[in-house]
Amino acid sequence: SAESPTEDRPTAVELDDVAKRYAETTAVDGVSLSVREGEFFTLVGPSGCGKTTTLRLIAGFESPTEGTVRFHGEDVTGTPPEDRDVGVVFQNYALFPHMSVGENVAYGLNFADPPGGVSDDERVRELLELVDLEGMRDREPDRLSGGQRQRVAIARALAPGPDVLLLDEPMSALDARLRERLRMQVRAIQRELGITTIYVTHDQEEALAISDRVAVMRDGTPEQVAPPREIYRRPGTRFVAEFVGDNNVLEGTVLESEDGRARIEVGSETFAVALEDRTVAVGDAVAFCVRPENLRVDANGAGSSGRNATTATVRSAEFLGETTRAHLEWRGRELLVRTRDPLSGEVRVGFDPEDARVVAVDRTA
Ligand code: ATP
Repeated sequence: SAESPTEDRPTAVELDDVAKRYAETTAVDGVSLSVREGEFFTLVGPSGCGKTTTLRLIAGFESPTEGTVRFHGEDVTGTPPEDRDVGVVFQNYALFPHMSVGENVAYGLNFADPPGGVSDDERVRELLELVDLEGMRDREPDRLSGGQRQRVAIARALAPGPDVLLLDEPMSALDARLRERLRMQVRAIQRELGITTIYVTHDQEEALAISDRVAVMRDGTPEQVAPPREIYRRPGTRFVAEFVGDNNVLEGTVLESEDGRARIEVGSETFAVALEDRTVAVGDAVAFCVRPENLRVDANGAGSSGRNATTATVRSAEFLGETTRAHLEWRGRELLVRTRDPLSGEVRVGFDPEDARVVAVDRTA
């Protein structure tokens, strides 16, 4: 199943029709979301779509213009951040530069409930072990790498034993390789603790890699909330199809529709497209997408790519190591394909109807 392993869990954090308006802007526009206990939930979307504001509303740093925020069913809309039992990590570490790593983490403990058996010293040691920084306890933050600093910030946020961990672009200041390493570490820590985590990023690849479920946001509202595979394979809207991963989106008119399949005319050619859960009627204007890796390419030209194929011209190619991404021109449009073999000239490109997904329907009748 494409559902996430946390699907049966109770709700930890819930936003019920939450809006946040400033004088000129609506930052968050009627968001309803349920994050489950122990879930790694990510808000992703382009700059300005309202991710950070949504996270700040959950943390309690902002209060909503409309709507309700609940933790475990309890209304916390008017509850200040310090009473919400959340740990927060921001993009720019915000460690105390004059304190050692251990002191920074111990500072987080000051917000904990009265100690229950375990000494602060022992607890700091456990937290540093959790983030894999046992040997760094006496270092000052300015002698750590960016990734190490963020791990200290995570340990400090976790020190009071919060119910929910909130992370706002914690890796955006790091280089690509370090980001990939740190995201694995963050995911491992989250799994080990089983802590409900809400994560903000503009990086769609990171969102897919790290999350149980992803909310793709646009203009202050989530467009689709689903596990990563579902978002990638079955984008619910054209925006999601184009924001997450490479995609080819084609627009056409429905010529036939029956038995879960449609024939769609694009330019003067027709393609068969599986409909899954969508319904379309003859005459509808539709958009459908096909991932570059699902476009079959036959460099030898004529016909052998079978049905549902057309002829396109290779314009350029980017060598990416494992694959090559080729830019084809087809009737004034660009098509992206992924191939192993170098391509040039005229090629046949086709796709399996099951690999196409209708992402927009404009009923004309
Ligand atoms: P980014 O990825 O660039 O951080 P974002 O998706 O996190 O963007 P937000 O920071 O939540 O987006 O901002 C959403 C919108 O609300 C933006 O248009 C922003 O300019 C506006 N906004 C955010 N905070 C305020 C504020 N305090 N006053 C006025 N407008 C604000």
